[in-house]
Amino acid sequence: MDDMTGVSWLRDEDSDLRSMLQALEEARAAADQGEVPVGAIIVHPEKGLVARARNAKETLQDPTAHAEILAIGQAAEAVGSWRLENCTLYSTLEPCPMCAGAILQSRIERVVFGASDSRWGAVDSKMNIFEPGLFNHDVVWQGGVLETEAAGLLKDFFREIREGRPRYDGKAEDGS
Ligand SMILES: [Zn+2]
Repeated sequence: MDDMTGVSWLRDEDSDLRSMLQALEEARAAADQGEVPVGAIIVHPEKGLVARARNAKETLQDPTAHAEILAIGQAAEAVGSWRLENCTLYSTLEPCPMCAGAILQSRIERVVFGASDSRWGAVDSKMNIFEPGLFNHDVVWQGGVLETEAAGLLKDFFREIREGRPRYDGKAEDGS
């Protein structure tokens, strides 16, 4: 209980907001690197923050390098187990089928996300992968936390791309 000292006045809602702000920081850092701005963090009930990651698909040229996947890997390493029971994953964007599958595999208890994803969202938008009873692990989820901020980052990013002003500099876009 020592780790609760000083934060006992925080309601769950407040700690969700605080964690989502950290995920948004990661998303912003992703945009600065020319990556689609998505950030994810994982909070462990005793250890606290055990992962903070951002989308790195372009940087790593790895189609699986989504923020949530990278965060799950970090958290498993920090916890020393693939089982992330009782952990909460915060993502600025609704997880895709790959990430939602990894969330199920890792036994994460709760998912909180910001913006919905009409193209790839596997929690609520395109499919309902966390539907109770569908798999042998149930995930509690909540969307729409700091949605405006998370969606705004994505909108700004894609607008800059359309206008030919990608954020990253010093990298040749044509690969030469
Ligand atoms: Zn994903």
